[in-house]
Amino acid sequence: MLRFPIYLDNCATTACDPRVVEAMLPYFTQHYGNASSSSHSFGWKAKAAVEEAQQQIAALIGARPEEIIFTSGATESCNLALRGICDLYAGADRHIITVKTEHKAVLDTCRELEKSGAEITYLDVDQNGQINLQALEAAIKPATILIAVMWANNETGVVMPINEIGAIARARQVLFFSDATQAVGKIPVNVKDAGLGLMALSSHKLYGPKGVGALYVSRRNPRVRLAAQITGGGQQQHIRSGTLNVPGIVGFGKAAALGRESMQEEVLRLRPFRDQLETALLRIPDVYINGAASERLPQVCNASFDYLNSNEILSALNKDLAVSSGSACTSGSLDPSYVLKAMQLPDARAKAAIRFSCGRYTTAEEIDHTIRFVTDTIGTLRKSSPAWLLRD
Ligand SMILES: *Cc1c(COP(=O)(O)O)cnc(C)c1O
Repeated sequence: MLRFPIYLDNCATTACDPRVVEAMLPYFTQHYGNASSSSHSFGWKAKAAVEEAQQQIAALIGARPEEIIFTSGATESCNLALRGICDLYAGADRHIITVKTEHKAVLDTCRELEKSGAEITYLDVDQNGQINLQALEAAIKPATILIAVMWANNETGVVMPINEIGAIARARQVLFFSDATQAVGKIPVNVKDAGLGLMALSSHKLYGPKGVGALYVSRRNPRVRLAAQITGGGQQQHIRSGTLNVPGIVGFGKAAALGRESMQEEVLRLRPFRDQLETALLRIPDVYINGAASERLPQVCNASFDYLNSNEILSALNKDLAVSSGSACTSGSLDPSYVLKAMQLPDARAKAAIRFSCGRYTTAEEIDHTIRFVTDTIGTLRKSSPAWLLRD
C-alpha cells in the first residue's frame, strides 16, 4: 500500500528511526540528569550516556570518543570550525581556501569572516562539480590557515576527492576541515585516512533527531586548537559551553550505531532505486542528470527538465511527491541554484532542476510510482509550455 506523499527529500532531512526515538525516551523523564552534575547518580547516568554516544559516533567516522564535540547541528559545527580557527589567528594574515559549491553554513560564514579581514579563496568547480587539485595546491600560501571542502554536496550528491585533498593539506601542513553532513552514515567516512583536523556532521541527516550535531576536533596528528564561540559553563573542554542535550545526543549516538550497522546494505538497496529512477528520467526527452560523470552519493539524483522551471514542476508534483529543487535553505527563491551555476549549467537548466533523494524507508513501489508520475507530469507540463512548443 502506497502512502502519499512519497518522501524523496532525504537530503533535506530524514525521519527519525523509531529505534532512535526508543533509545531517547528514558532520557527525558527518567534519566534527566545534567551531564555536568558530578555529585549524584542522575549526573553520572547522563554523563555515561553522552560518553556512549561519543563512542558510537567516533566508531562511525574513525575518530576517538574525546574528539567528538556536540553542537546544535552542522550549521553550528561549521561556524565553530571556521570562526574558531580564524579567531585563533586574530591579528595575523589569515587565508582560507574553500569551494563555490559549499553549503551556505560554510559560504555565508566565510563571507562574514571576510568582513573581519580574512582573505577567502573560493575555488571553481568543473561541469562535474569537481575542483581542480592543481588549482587547490596553487591557491595555498604562507597565510593559509584552513582548507574547507565538503565531503558530499547536498544538492547533487557529488563526492569530493577528500583523501587526495587531505594528502595535499598534510604535505603543505595546512589544517583541513570538511562539512561531511551528507556523507556520514551514507558512505564510508574515515577522518584519519582523510587527514582531517575538523569535520562537521549532523544527526537529522542520518535518521537521528534535529537540533543536534557534532564537530570532530582532532586531538593528535594534528592536535587542533580552536577558539570557543559559545562561552559559559565550560562544558566539552571549554570548546562549546552549554548544558548538553542528553536525549538528543543519545539519539544521535544510536543513529550513528545504526548507520554503521546498515550502511553497506542500504547502499546496495538504494543505489538500484536511484539508478532505476535515472534511467527512466533519461527516457523523457531533454532531461539531464547533474553531476552524473562524478562519483556521487548512491541515493541522490539531481535532474534538470529543460523548458520548465523547478517551481512549476514542484507544484505539479507535490500532491504525490515530496522532492525539492535542491537545498531546503534556498528553495522558495526563484534564483537558479548557485551550486548548479558553479557547475556551468546554463541559467535555464539550473532553474529546471529537481533533487530526488531516497532513504531508509524508500520502497520499490514508491520508486515505480515516482517514475510513472514524474513522466506523466513532465509530459503534461510541457504540452502547455510555450518554451517547449517553440523549441527548435
Ligand atoms: C543539512 C546540511 C547542513 C546544515 O545542517 P544542520 O544540522 O541542519 O544545521 C550543513 N551542510 C550540509 C552539507 C548539509 O547538508
